[in-house]
Amino acid sequence: MTTEASTPTTPAPAAAEGGTLRAERVSAWFGTRKVLEDVNLEMGAGAVTALIGPSGCGKSTFLRTLNRMHEIIPGASLAGSVLLDGDDIYGGTLRVTQVRRRVGMVFQKPNPFPAMSIADNVAAGLRLTGTRATDRDGLIEDSLRRAGLWNEVRNRLRAPAGGLSGGQQQRLCIARSLTVRPEVLLMDEPCSALDPTSTRRIEETIGELRSQVTIIIVTHNMQQAQRVSQRCAFFLAAEDQPGRVVESGPTERLFGDPEDPRTADYVHGRF
Ligand code: ADP
Ligand code: MG
Repeated sequence: MTTEASTPTTPAPAAAEGGTLRAERVSAWFGTRKVLEDVNLEMGAGAVTALIGPSGCGKSTFLRTLNRMHEIIPGASLAGSVLLDGDDIYGGTLRVTQVRRRVGMVFQKPNPFPAMSIADNVAAGLRLTGTRATDRDGLIEDSLRRAGLWNEVRNRLRAPAGGLSGGQQQRLCIARSLTVRPEVLLMDEPCSALDPTSTRRIEETIGELRSQVTIIIVTHNMQQAQRVSQRCAFFLAAEDQPGRVVESGPTERLFGDPEDPRTADYVHGRF
């Protein structure tokens, strides 16, 4: 047998460009109430990580600890470390603005500036993080393309964003967060306010972005978690207890062969 015979014929996928985030013993409080305990989780480049679990178990709080948004809530505090490509985002070497530029966020309810034009909304991503752009129009187009919205809006870039459908507005928000080329994109239930068709479009966009940016998505939709993610973490808070990660690992294993009976119950819709 020649060596050529064992050479793969399909080219290797392009190296992932996203960053890695690693949470180490992250705990979080609101006032004296502990809502998250000792979360350890590695969220890697080239993979979409889905955070699943019942309401109130701390998924959104955890997401906010990953880009230093937790600390802006009055009375909120946290312990532990979050490493972005090895640097602790709370360690003093990175400024908050640098962290927010490198770790973007998209929320449940699309929140464009409705009276502002579509183009200006995308460019607002630059202003919010103080990033200067030499080629503003090119960057706007590139971000809209990456968010899967360019073809729908290319002829109405000066129109107000408020005229877009809910799903388009959400893709606009994705475009806005992409303008500063984040390494990580946090998405907190980005489809919960959307119809099934818009949801599918966002899922396609997530699939296309996966090799460019590390995505961490909170979702209540178990089918969606299976469609979009390669890694999954199941959060649970027992009554009056802080939320913890019950188990994490490849999505296929969490759904197909969970280690913990509580994970099995949750992914099969039994609570
Ligand atoms: P999830 O996203 O999993 O539904 P959250 O992270 O929103 O959970 O909430 C975790 C816990 O923290 C809940 O008990 C919630 O009531 C509480 N919580 C969330 N935000 C605040 C806040 N700003 N102030 C006080 N408690 C909060
Ligand atoms: Mg939430």
